[in-house]
Amino acid sequence: MAEILKGSPVAKFIKEKIKSESDLLRQKGIIPTLGIIRMGDRPEDISYEKGVIKNCESVGIQARVFEVPENTSMNEFVELLKSVNQDDNIHGILMFRPLPKHIDYEVIKNIIDPRKDIDCMSPVNLEKVFEGELDGFAPCTPKAVIEILKFYNVPLSGANVAIINRSMVVGRPLSMMFIGENSTVTICHSRTKDLPKVTANADIVVAAVGKARMLGKEYFSENSVVIDVGINDAGDGKICGDVDYDNVVDHVKSITPVPGGVGSVTSAILLSHVIIACKKIVDKQ
Ligand code: NAP
Repeated sequence: MAEILKGSPVAKFIKEKIKSESDLLRQKGIIPTLGIIRMGDRPEDISYEKGVIKNCESVGIQARVFEVPENTSMNEFVELLKSVNQDDNIHGILMFRPLPKHIDYEVIKNIIDPRKDIDCMSPVNLEKVFEGELDGFAPCTPKAVIEILKFYNVPLSGANVAIINRSMVVGRPLSMMFIGENSTVTICHSRTKDLPKVTANADIVVAAVGKARMLGKEYFSENSVVIDVGINDAGDGKICGDVDYDNVVDHVKSITPVPGGVGSVTSAILLSHVIIACKKIVDKQ
């Protein structure tokens, strides 16, 4: 049976650190604050928002929601974003994506203040990830993957890593982070030849395909450390990962469950970014 790399102890460790830092800030009269910008009221956004607010409360971060109707014009939306950018009492900004079609994401991502861009929308922050600079905000999911591996003492230096994903949200930034840890990285995608052979030869496999239980045991070896980023509809009202967990768990070295793996750590990373943003903004005032 594999070691189960649960997300909850990692998230707890990160949140405890956040809580003590937010306590210190509050003692100085500063309330770390997250501004949530939501267009419309899609049920998935509302439910994600509720989770974020609850998480914020648990670590002493204040959340303020800026809700606008879905038909808000591009100009009005830009004005709202600029006003949140300029509000000294808001330290981090979270925007639900995808934005409606009439909102030009290419424009928006260049307007968000990089110092408040806790979800890594701004090209300024993304560029820092690719340049190996550590003072920006990296995308939360790839960062969660690295944090989980470090928490469970999985050696990264010299490790062969296969990532099944080449998106800008997951695969590409994650590959840069692994390179920063001196790993050797192979990025796989839908055109990769003989994928099971590539992944079975890797020490660490990160799956972010978006296809329920696609990866069976032929994709892994008994030495595989498996990180399942996928969040898929399992068809029974539950969610599942990209890995066929029940059939794989006895045949690998270690594995993250879904749910209960990468997702919870991703949320904790997002909160940690609010504290980092708050401390930086306050230091400059
Ligand atoms: P995406 O842009 O659709 O990327 C999917 C990747 O999988 C692409 O690179 C695609 O290759 C590759 N792929 C698809 N079918 C494949 C196949 N049969 N064999 C090999 N590769 C294949 O999705 P995403 O936004 O990056 O998200 C990926 C997954 O991660 C989703 O399940 C999403 O829900 C999940 N996710 C989880 C979190 C979290 O916090 N846990 C956060 C973000 C996303 P091509 O490039 O060739 O199309």
